[in-house]
Amino acid sequence: MLEIKDLHARIEDKEILRGIDLTVNAGEVHAIMGPNGSGKSTLASIVAGKKEYEVTKGSIELDGKDLLDMDPEERAAEGVFLAFQYPVEIPGVSNTYFLRAALNAIRKHNGQPELSMSEFMKHIRAKAQLMELDSTMLSRAVNEGFSGGEKKRNEIFQMAVLEPKLCVLDETDSGLDIDALKIVANGVNALRGPERSVVVVTHYQRLLNYIVPDFVHVLMGGRIVKSGGRELALELEEKGYGFIEEEVAARA
Ligand code: ADP
Ligand code: MG
Ligand code: MG
Repeated sequence: MLEIKDLHARIEDKEILRGIDLTVNAGEVHAIMGPNGSGKSTLASIVAGKKEYEVTKGSIELDGKDLLDMDPEERAAEGVFLAFQYPVEIPGVSNTYFLRAALNAIRKHNGQPELSMSEFMKHIRAKAQLMELDSTMLSRAVNEGFSGGEKKRNEIFQMAVLEPKLCVLDETDSGLDIDALKIVANGVNALRGPERSVVVVTHYQRLLNYIVPDFVHVLMGGRIVKSGGRELALELEEKGYGFIEEEVAARA
């Protein structure tokens, strides 16, 4: 499914990613953890196609297709969804309108017919129910005036509606409050399935109590320096990142 090989990237003249290898198979949930500034958000942004970063070496493929060759819209149509801690507001555009346009663009890209209005409404109502989203939020402008928790819920709802192949969640370092955390976790857990891969970027172990990952990777200095199962996240919580720094130093 997702295959990242020897990925190097820089911003301005600073090298941030220094050789990332990561394979995420269909059905798996991978967590990327690491200290502040290690390159986690950079990695998530590059997978989604943000333009600030220059990839200097390596490849990213999704189902054998070269993602680096695609703009962010094409990647989305291929099934990549990136969720951020601070979702964008789109004043004047209702959630329903936005999602219908987005879903139809994806369907068109994949050679599927547009959903009729009634098919579409049925689809989003089912997803709103699954995500426990208040139905009044469907007609509101995308994220405009939403509280932090509402934005988070809405974003996970958007993800559920678009049914991406690859979900990338960057929860950044400042952390979510416990309610937002549970919203994200419930949403992601509802979407887990054999056809879908999830990459959760998080500084803290906390989220992983709710989204139990199959694999945990530690990113440090732009490289994955250690990988393991969920127990690695628990070990990090207990010991901090220091013990891995020592391991890496001992290896060098
Ligand atoms: P993390 O998400 O792990 O905290 P980031 O990927 O945000 O790390 O950042 C990795 C490094 O890249 C940091 O040293 C950060 O200062 C630098 N960096 C990230 N974005 C920019 C930017 N737009 N301009 C300059 N440096 C940046
Ligand atoms: Mg950071
Ligand atoms: Mg970050």
